[in-house]
Amino acid sequence: MAEETLSFQAEVAKLLDIVVHSLYSDREIFLRELISNASDSCDRLRYAAQTRGDLIDGDADFRIRLIPDKDAGTLTIVDNGFGMNKEELIANLGTIAKSGTDEFLKALGDSARKESAQIGQFGVGFYSAFMVSDKVDVLTAKAGEPGGWLWSSDGRGAFTVVEADNAVRGASITLHLKEDAKDFTDVQTLKGIVKRYSDHIAIPVLLKDGEAEETVNSASALWTRSKSEITPEQYTEFYHHASHAFDEPWATLHYKAEGAIEYTGLLFIPSSKPFDLFNPERRSHLKLYVKRVFITDKVEELLPGWLRFLRGVVDTPDLPLNVSRELLQHNPLLAKIKTGLVKKVLGELKKKSDDPDSKYVEFWENFGPVFKEGLYEERDRHDEILPLCRFRTTHGDGWYSLDEIVARMKPDQEAIYTITGDDLDKIKRSPQLEGFVAKGIEVMLLTDAIDDFWLNSVEDYQSKKFRSVTEAGSDLSKLAGEESPEAQAEKAPEGDMSTLIAALKLALGDQVQDVRSSNRLTESAVCLVAGEGQMSLHLEKMLRLHGQMMGEQQKVLEINPGHALIKSLAAAVAAKGSEAGIEDSALLLLDQARILEGEMPKDPKAFAKRLGEAMTKGLAS
Ligand code: ADP
Repeated sequence: MAEETLSFQAEVAKLLDIVVHSLYSDREIFLRELISNASDSCDRLRYAAQTRGDLIDGDADFRIRLIPDKDAGTLTIVDNGFGMNKEELIANLGTIAKSGTDEFLKALGDSARKESAQIGQFGVGFYSAFMVSDKVDVLTAKAGEPGGWLWSSDGRGAFTVVEADNAVRGASITLHLKEDAKDFTDVQTLKGIVKRYSDHIAIPVLLKDGEAEETVNSASALWTRSKSEITPEQYTEFYHHASHAFDEPWATLHYKAEGAIEYTGLLFIPSSKPFDLFNPERRSHLKLYVKRVFITDKVEELLPGWLRFLRGVVDTPDLPLNVSRELLQHNPLLAKIKTGLVKKVLGELKKKSDDPDSKYVEFWENFGPVFKEGLYEERDRHDEILPLCRFRTTHGDGWYSLDEIVARMKPDQEAIYTITGDDLDKIKRSPQLEGFVAKGIEVMLLTDAIDDFWLNSVEDYQSKKFRSVTEAGSDLSKLAGEESPEAQAEKAPEGDMSTLIAALKLALGDQVQDVRSSNRLTESAVCLVAGEGQMSLHLEKMLRLHGQMMGEQQKVLEINPGHALIKSLAAAVAAKGSEAGIEDSALLLLDQARILEGEMPKDPKAFAKRLGEAMTKGLAS
């Protein structure tokens, strides 16, 4: 069959361009990537062979072979794993499926060549072979399928695929080393690299030295060794392999559960956000093993979505080796492991959150928004999850626990006050906050999409209810606080406002639910608040944005009796009654309140006209 030439997908071509030209100093990691792929491929075949023994007929001992050839200037990495057929070759080694790749490449931009260390962080997998090679050949045959294929490329935009009759099951990857990379044919060099990066690989890695061959890794699953035998570096390397990540783990949990159900967990909390953290599938990435045989990394029942940032492996002897993916669904055993994992992780987080040296905030800034989904999903765990949460508040610039917030509450304060929005700076300037800030009452500033949802499902904390400051009833006058006497004195007595309020109500009709004098405003003239029992303004906005709500809730317009504008309006209405003609002013006030909420005026054209007229009048007088 004739050779076919195909182009790399644009993203791959871009990535390759960066890889080939990068001055990445740790380019030896290419070997870790290729050994990692080889080991994954063996793992997959071992699992498939549980139900289809014929797939490994004649060659049941999995191994990875490194064959350096000094004379030819090549290094070949051979595995007897699953291999690939033609379609898979083209898809796997011609495109890139990793989510976030495009964003990553864009973010790298032109600085990529200088800051190639970031490439190491992203993990370029197979394509890292081009850091050290002028040309790469992949000779492969897929288990259980006839025929074989040779894939070749110089990494410059295109690759070729041709049928090959000398391929055996698995993949054999030959690197034609660059002039300055010939070191990678040196046996000692290779040994060192394998020890450093791939010692934990559970499949033997054999290194050919002339006629001799020796195993250069420990070849036992890392999680089966005892903790005392494992160095921090080995844990980190294993984390890199198991999670395709390249940061340091923020936390490592290695333990054996014994009792009703037996399993070993080696879990990691990353120190940076994985690329797919906010993918809608909310997929878990834990790898499930049964007696050291890899089963799957796509089992939803193993970990709740709100802990999806965890990486690592779970190995249990209590499931049958040939367990099918279907059998894993709604499996009571997995449910028990899941409960155990959640307990373990929450316990570890509790320990870390109590330890001032643990950099807990680092964890929180990475994963807080995901973790809080647990408040919405797990009604029975509020007591465990809430104390582990950290929040921004009006108290200062730090992250605070609810315990700290509750400890700072005023003696007569019954509720924990909250405000939600999308932007911290914006909500800090909300008019609804003014009175609370003036009285020194702390308000939680919540800016994650999940916040409105968990607030709706969590009743209280230490019997203190959560209450939005945008709800009408949050009655500041009941709270003593320490408002300055000047601010108090400036406020016109409530009585003087009643005529103005009546006039505003008349003018605005059913555009508002109510108009009332406010004690939450100190600077702004007006603000909108939700009526008692209504959803918060931010939640309403989000629901509308996502098409889950039509129309708008009628809101309450609050006016600031201490504001000069309101005072003059009140005086005008008191003097002239209905002759004062405040309809335009009423509508302008309502639009102003909408703008403060980040909303458009109801009728922008009419708003501009009214504002224009008011300014003209102002200039004329
Ligand atoms: P990743 O391993 O992160 O998916 P890679 O670029 O390293 O990304 O590899 C892409 C895909 O190519 C792998 O997911 C796998 O399907 C396939 N692949 C790579 N190396 C091998 C191999 N030695 N044997 C079989 N398939 C392989």
